[in-house]
Amino acid sequence: MIHGDKVDLIYSRNVINAHKELLYSSGNSFLIVTGKSSARLSGALNDVLEAISDKECIIYDGIRENPEVSSLLEAARLLDDVDCVIGIGGGSVMDAAKVIACLKNNKAESEEELYAQKWENAALPLFLIGTTAGTGSEVTKVAVLTKANGRKASIHNDRFYASYALCDPAYTYSQPKAIAIATAVDALTHCNESYFSNKANDLSRAYALKGISYLLPGLKVIKDQISDELKDNLYLGSLYGGLAIDITGTTFAHNVGYYLTENFHIPHGFACAVFQEDLFDFEMKNNKQYTDEFFSQINMDKKSYIELISSLIPTFNIALSEQTIKEILPRYENNNSVKNTYGQMNVSDIERILKKIFNNQSFI
Ligand code: NAP
Ligand code: ZN
Repeated sequence: MIHGDKVDLIYSRNVINAHKELLYSSGNSFLIVTGKSSARLSGALNDVLEAISDKECIIYDGIRENPEVSSLLEAARLLDDVDCVIGIGGGSVMDAAKVIACLKNNKAESEEELYAQKWENAALPLFLIGTTAGTGSEVTKVAVLTKANGRKASIHNDRFYASYALCDPAYTYSQPKAIAIATAVDALTHCNESYFSNKANDLSRAYALKGISYLLPGLKVIKDQISDELKDNLYLGSLYGGLAIDITGTTFAHNVGYYLTENFHIPHGFACAVFQEDLFDFEMKNNKQYTDEFFSQINMDKKSYIELISSLIPTFNIALSEQTIKEILPRYENNNSVKNTYGQMNVSDIERILKKIFNNQSFI
């Protein structure tokens, strides 16, 4: 059992069957928010439909990876008679469901109105049921959405916390291997980046280290054969990663990763993982003692840790010209994620990192 203080998180096998009554008594008319197929493939949708079989129920299955604001607005138009929202899927669906649950009592007809919302009114009861072992979105107050201009932009609000996260690791088993690797790597980046955040505290560091301890055994074998027990631990690790970043936020690696996802469709986890080596290099150079403590706590040296992460990232041949890098950089001036990187990172560090990785024809 994991105790987050914001979300009631129930982690168990057959979690929906075991807590049918909780779902059943939370509303009379439900909106179930999903993506294309993972809710069905994971078995979670079936379990939910059984639990609320004689209730009114609308299924909105229009959420896609890196969810577009327009799809949330479309789903929100179905809310008139709805009194409870259930999000079943990976981070994309859960992030969307959080915002949709708030849109009934905090209206927004357009992207501008949504981003201008102050979310003053209560959300509908919200259940989140994760199907990836990755984002930890089950336990965070964050929603990462994609605007009409293709840019990813996150919104943070206490109203986005789920009423309940119903967590059954078996729902992650249907992930294809490539998705399982990308999402598990994302979870590891959350733990790393939370530890190396200027907002890190004793509790967030404890969550981050716990997350890493659950993630590492599975990550070491995930490309070959991975047992169900290790898959379960990946899911637990992802939840600890979520608890960690909910306190601290992420660092420059996530924000610069968004650029790779937006422009080269690199899956979120890999896009952030690309920058982990540079995060550690920066920290080793500027905050050696803190960084040494990190590697001693995770029981791995920097070189082996980076080798493990690199071995999990596929090869992407991407080159960015000096001119393109120059055009990207204003985005990282005064950027909260850059400022949140432990120590004092600034835009000139981002310039150096981008040139090192991408101005060399290709990376990794
Ligand atoms: P995702 O974008 O939710 O899903 C990726 C793909 O995996 C989709 O095609 C999805 O299919 C499929 N999938 C998911 N679970 C599956 C299962 N059990 N079986 C088969 N297929 C499955 O991936 P994600 O990495 O979990 O989420 C990434 C998003 O979360 C990004 O937008 C990222 O920025 C955001 N994020 C949020 C937070 C936060 O704290 N809120 C933190 C980090 C990242 P379907 O389309 O069928 O669902
Ligand atoms: Zn992430």
